[in-house]
Amino acid sequence: SISKGDREKGVNVQVILRCRPLSDEETKSNTPVVISCHERRREVAATQIIANKQIDRTFAFDKVFGPSSKQKDLFEQSISPIVNEVLEGYNCTIFAYGQTGTGKTYTMEGGGTRKTKNGELPTDAGVIPRAVRQIFDILEAQCAEYSMKVTFLELYNEEITDLLAPEEPKFPVPEDKTKKPIALMEDGKGGVFVRGLEEELVYSAGEIYKILDKGEEMIKIGKLNLVDLAGSENISRSGARDGRAREAGEINKSLLTLGRVINALVEHSGHVPYRDSKLTRLLRDSLGGKTKTCIIATISPSVFCLEETLSTLDYAHRAK
Ligand code: ADP
Ligand code: MG
Repeated sequence: SISKGDREKGVNVQVILRCRPLSDEETKSNTPVVISCHERRREVAATQIIANKQIDRTFAFDKVFGPSSKQKDLFEQSISPIVNEVLEGYNCTIFAYGQTGTGKTYTMEGGGTRKTKNGELPTDAGVIPRAVRQIFDILEAQCAEYSMKVTFLELYNEEITDLLAPEEPKFPVPEDKTKKPIALMEDGKGGVFVRGLEEELVYSAGEIYKILDKGEEMIKIGKLNLVDLAGSENISRSGARDGRAREAGEINKSLLTLGRVINALVEHSGHVPYRDSKLTRLLRDSLGGKTKTCIIATISPSVFCLEETLSTLDYAHRAK
């Protein structure tokens, strides 16, 4: 649905929709299904019964993956081309957005299988292991000199935690280890960086920085952000109960701002409110400009999730 015109204007936001299958328990208890996916038409229909009347609402996306879709197909059709762009020097971001229990982590990380067989990834491996595999495969095939850095962080309550940093003993109970929150700093050039963030050098084949200093044109620096967002139910249930008000509010802030930033980019509406949340400040250099963004919206087919499903469909559709 991104027209040629949009592409020329530099907007590159793709929204794909994935519906998970019913779980075994849901199947056993005959949970009614209210979602139908039309992969070829790239549409999803949600059926609501209001005052004994059946109301169908249809939403169109760039790509639709139904309940029996395979990890491999989702990756090859929608993510693999974006990973290629990273190697061409683009900053790219893949978000998983949706209600808790709809398959964000399954889509990003994969099912439970960790073992590789004959060097092959398990069939339930998700976007992250497949993207990493593709990057290494291509660089090795090109015999390119490269280095790769990985950072792994958590954003919660508008606080950033470095998941690669060693845990520090917490006083006065030293066994109670905590991860120290870290600060997001402005670099004075419109960008941000995370102070003290551990960078894991995964593999270094050459002295990339020396080469960079020499100003070699062939060097490409790309960045791939893979983001498993907070459950989207925090957005609609902001009337939070029992002391979780701040938490819901803060999670809201990042998800709502992300929606607004993407809207502003898609609609070319001038002011892009990057500064309004940590998430969008963190991803500023990867949203807008020479970048690609892909939102994977995840939903459940169950009647009991319908309200949240409709709000996910609305949010994701607006981003398109
Ligand atoms: P979330 O991260 O959105 O809270 P999960 O990824 O943990 O949701 O998924 C919830 C459950 O549903 C997990 O048991 C997961 O394995 C299963 N699941 C999710 N999506 C799929 C899918 N597309 N196919 C098969 N099982 C899935
Ligand atoms: Mg999860």
